[in-house]
Amino acid sequence: MKNTLNKGLIKRRILVVDDEMINREILGNMLCDGYEVSYASNGQEALDLLRGTEESFSLILLDLMMPVMSGDEVLNICRSDPRLSSIPIIVLTQDEDAEASSIRSGADDFIKKPYNLPEVILARCERIIDLYEKKNLIDTTERDTLTGLYSNDFFFEYIRQIGQYNSDPMDAIAMDIENFHLINEIYGRSGGDEILKKAADIISAELGDGTGIACRSVADTFYIYHPAKEDYDDLVGRIEKEINSCSFLEAKIRIRIGINKNVDMSEAVEQWFDHAKLACDGMRRDYTRTLAYYDRELNDRQLHQARLISDMDASIANHDFVVFYQPKYGVLGDRPVLRSAEALIRWKHPELGMISPGSFIPLFEGNGLVQKLDRFVWEEAGAQIAAWKEQYKITVPVSVNVSRIDIYDPRLEEILFGILEKNGLTTKEMLLEITESAYSDNADRLIEVVNNLRAKGFRIEMDDFGSGYSSLNMLTTIPIDVLKMDMKFVSNMLKDEKSLKLCELVMDISRFLEVPVVAEGVEDEAQLAKLKDMGCEIVQGYYFSRPLPAEEFEELIRKEAELA
Ligand code: C2E
Ligand code: MG
Ligand code: MG
Repeated sequence: MKNTLNKGLIKRRILVVDDEMINREILGNMLCDGYEVSYASNGQEALDLLRGTEESFSLILLDLMMPVMSGDEVLNICRSDPRLSSIPIIVLTQDEDAEASSIRSGADDFIKKPYNLPEVILARCERIIDLYEKKNLIDTTERDTLTGLYSNDFFFEYIRQIGQYNSDPMDAIAMDIENFHLINEIYGRSGGDEILKKAADIISAELGDGTGIACRSVADTFYIYHPAKEDYDDLVGRIEKEINSCSFLEAKIRIRIGINKNVDMSEAVEQWFDHAKLACDGMRRDYTRTLAYYDRELNDRQLHQARLISDMDASIANHDFVVFYQPKYGVLGDRPVLRSAEALIRWKHPELGMISPGSFIPLFEGNGLVQKLDRFVWEEAGAQIAAWKEQYKITVPVSVNVSRIDIYDPRLEEILFGILEKNGLTTKEMLLEITESAYSDNADRLIEVVNNLRAKGFRIEMDDFGSGYSSLNMLTTIPIDVLKMDMKFVSNMLKDEKSLKLCELVMDISRFLEVPVVAEGVEDEAQLAKLKDMGCEIVQGYYFSRPLPAEEFEELIRKEAELA
């Protein structure tokens, strides 16, 4: 252990506290070859220097008689402060009597003044530092009995110690043996143990007596702390070869290695290896890879997503979710006429600020939470339609988005009718948008549900049409009332010929199906003119208005009521 600690090291740091410059110089000269030396000329100065940098000091050499604050006072403070008590203190004194009393107050050794033999002083310093480092290294068992590698706790503690003196870039590695539980079952526990021992031996041999160390974390998981290296392919190859040299094995054993490159010194040691393990576990069931690198950005993204998931319920309860409305205008008459609106959710997160649905809807679609959110939007929209109807005596039908997971909910109809009834609305006043890609998932089931909804009077709009690759064959049987042309065709229609052709194709399909088209994402006059030319009946987009909070949308209703 000492060997490794003393290799490739940065010097340990000693604080010399003495009010006499000559004494500081003498000690400094003796120590400076082997240590980094800092100086203080009284107790107060010493404490000021130590505060916040406690961990960087390996030893304090302390004079007792000093102005401002004596060595005795420093000794008392250090021994009663848990942050300072792990630094050994050697007292410097001429007074024979003071030796015994200072050792009683917690000094670890003393050096007599005047100083004569530098070797003796150096040896004393070295011995005390070594003793303390051993003491600070945990006292629990140091080795894993099966493999002889370090135990988990010892490993982490050891790295913390090395870390103080080592500024070289290091990698944290987690290694797993694939399907180890099966190996135990097939070859028995002793077979499994032999493989673990082989793995440990080759890891130890790889590390040699360099600055890297390893431990067996749990079961078949090994952690390796390795000087940074570009490429670990050869290491994987060597470990696999060695393990597979066990004579009793009938099938090849594979390992997985996750690497957290160039560990971030501001993070806790345990975290470095958690991250390496995360990369390692990410390869489960992926038989094409044996090696993966931890991706900080990916991890941050996952943490962010986990936060959104855990915050959703509270945000619904706190009304942090708000429904915005974007108008759809009929454009084929003399003037654009407000025909309807789409309800679009917004998340005003109390800490993360405004989050766009693009960042949380796909996430909540993946885990089913979107159902709760959709239901919230339907409820809000239902109440809003009724309120507008009451106030302006006109109905502005609102389309709500229906996720694919809603479609498979057997209570869907019941929920929708419940909302209509509660607000005194009919199926003509709340339209349903279903994205085209949902149709390709389980077309039969979807068609059945949609047919039922239509039979009960609901109008169905196929959202993002053109992005879902529906087959032409399916289109002829699909039950829909409106096609919403995918936004990217519109945004590119005047930039490239292909998009323009696709817009025309969507128009042709709509004529064939005898349903109107809503063009989404219309942002300027030229796009509008072109779409009108093609016969597109309804337009939604920033050209007319962005999605608006309900109060602002009311302005549009008021204007419409005046013009009508
Ligand atoms: P979507 O249903 O296709 O909604 C249209 C999106 O286009 C909206 O984005 C709208 O703000 C945006 N948009 C409208 N006009 C323009 C324009 O002229 N230019 C540009 N660049 N964009 C325009 P938003 O609100 O960010 O919503 C994104 C998607 O999130 C929606 O696409 C929908 O799939 C989903 N979403 C929104 N609210 C809900 C909801 O309550 N439930 C479900 N399941 N999904 C929702
Ligand atoms: Mg939509
Ligand atoms: Mg859309």
